[in-house]
Amino acid sequence: MVRGFYLILHREPACLAVSRCQESAGLNVNNCITTFLHVETKYIFVTGGVVSSLGKGIISSSLARLLLSRGYRVTIQKFDPYINIDPGTLNPYEHGECYVTVDGHEADLDLGHYERFTNTQTTRANNVTTGRIYQSVIDKERRGDYLGKTVQIIPHITDEIKRNVKILGNTGKFDFVITEIGGTVGDIESTPYLEAVRQLRWELGRDALCVHLTYVPYLKAAKELKTKPTQHSVKLLQQVGIQPDILVLRTEKDVPAQMRRKVAQFCNVEPDAVIQSLDAPTIYQVPLMMHEQHLDEIVLRKMGVDAEGEPDLSAWNAFLEKLSTATEEVSIGLVGKYVQLQDAYKSINESLSHAATHCDRKLKITYINSEKLTAENAGEYLSGLDGVVIAPGFGQRGIEGKFHAIRWTREHDVPTFGICLGMQCMVIEFARNVLGLEEANSTEMDTKTPHNVIDLMEEQKSISDMGGTMRLGAYDCDLREGSRVAEAYGTRRVSERHRHRFEFNEDYREAFERGGMQCVGTNPGTNLVEVVEIPEKRWFIGTQYHPEYQSTVLHPNPLFISFIKAAVNYRKVRK
Ligand code: GLN
Repeated sequence: MVRGFYLILHREPACLAVSRCQESAGLNVNNCITTFLHVETKYIFVTGGVVSSLGKGIISSSLARLLLSRGYRVTIQKFDPYINIDPGTLNPYEHGECYVTVDGHEADLDLGHYERFTNTQTTRANNVTTGRIYQSVIDKERRGDYLGKTVQIIPHITDEIKRNVKILGNTGKFDFVITEIGGTVGDIESTPYLEAVRQLRWELGRDALCVHLTYVPYLKAAKELKTKPTQHSVKLLQQVGIQPDILVLRTEKDVPAQMRRKVAQFCNVEPDAVIQSLDAPTIYQVPLMMHEQHLDEIVLRKMGVDAEGEPDLSAWNAFLEKLSTATEEVSIGLVGKYVQLQDAYKSINESLSHAATHCDRKLKITYINSEKLTAENAGEYLSGLDGVVIAPGFGQRGIEGKFHAIRWTREHDVPTFGICLGMQCMVIEFARNVLGLEEANSTEMDTKTPHNVIDLMEEQKSISDMGGTMRLGAYDCDLREGSRVAEAYGTRRVSERHRHRFEFNEDYREAFERGGMQCVGTNPGTNLVEVVEIPEKRWFIGTQYHPEYQSTVLHPNPLFISFIKAAVNYRKVRK
């Protein structure tokens, strides 16, 4: 059995060293002296019961935040029981936003929470699906790795799950690996994962721990909280051989201490290890709520690690303080087609919130369904907003509404931020209505357009598979000196994440620049246009990349900050 092991000569990876230093208020990164606590890698499993959507991702992220703030190195991974290789091919209505990691993995949206809470980048290794597990086992079988053996769920699939659980721990970069198991206990699909957890707990002893998140419903008619579903869910877990160490009860109403003691007694859990997770005004409050109930201390104690002292949450608290005290509003419209499900634009929502909080403003987001927008009604929907975001997306549905929105905000000089498809729509609208290129379009929407100002990237032309084949992950972008975007970032080279197949058509660059839309961000290797802006407008910027994937509580994305500042100024001008 291989375990993470630390020597005194251990060096912390740069990203962590930086994030840790930046968390210590007022410290210059270069002068920062870091002290690291080293423990043998510990594995924390987070399972869920009763219903889905209880917030396992938020509990995992909150625990990670607390352990990080105590000086430990922590990563979180998500194991999803579905058969898709990754969520990249899922409709956002099915599974919310598809998040993208720096190394180009299309990932579950919980990885976005992990990064926003921990300020630490995740990679492909942080998100595994049943599809990936089976693919890997089947590849091994074809290679002959199991020659002579019958390949079975136990031990082959479970061993592959266990191997994946330990990949990050074995890098030596982390003291704690938190593994969130998707789905709920009792699902057929989750069974191999729970069996792997059972085996790992047996093998790792005190270095493994299980936190189980369940639901305590409040029955309005009876005016009562009910713990029976929790008891049943723990029984299910016990049936597969897992005794949870800690229970987190998600609830809308305070669960009295005596009721928590009853749960502890029925479920073989220590009374202080039954913690409640009340609905919070913001998800960023949850680490504090968990700390108040000593979740971090209980975890450390149970895993045989010194739990003395307090986590340094000063920077986190400073953010929460700003979030709760901001009274002046900034009102942003988000134009997209998935507006019925806000999880579809999770990272954009959070990035706007980080930036607004940074600027001491209370964020109000209005979701505008692009399918409903026409040239006639655009003003009705958009006037009164301080800034407008044109959302990313795919396909024809709702696209014309985005053009109407952009025309209106451009002509009325409202701060406008186009992201990926949003940027492409800004380009198309400008071509049609300013450059006079009628029927200009993206070949994604119209293969026969006479003006393919947005066109399929050359390297995409030979690709037929849909999964994992877009231009994905982080690429460098050079910013033009004097541009608003360079000013926003305060640097001339940035690296941001991507997820697209189409690009600005180089043949039209000159016409756009002459017409007033500047290509101010380009990829240094390929010259691909990454950022467009209209300098004469208040703030009119489109990015081919997705800056929302790199905004965290402790580091809001500079472009979102710049956009919010422009929106705040525009609000002042209007009033
Ligand atoms: N559909 C566009 C493309 O593939 C934009 C993608 C996006 O918005 N993520 O290029």
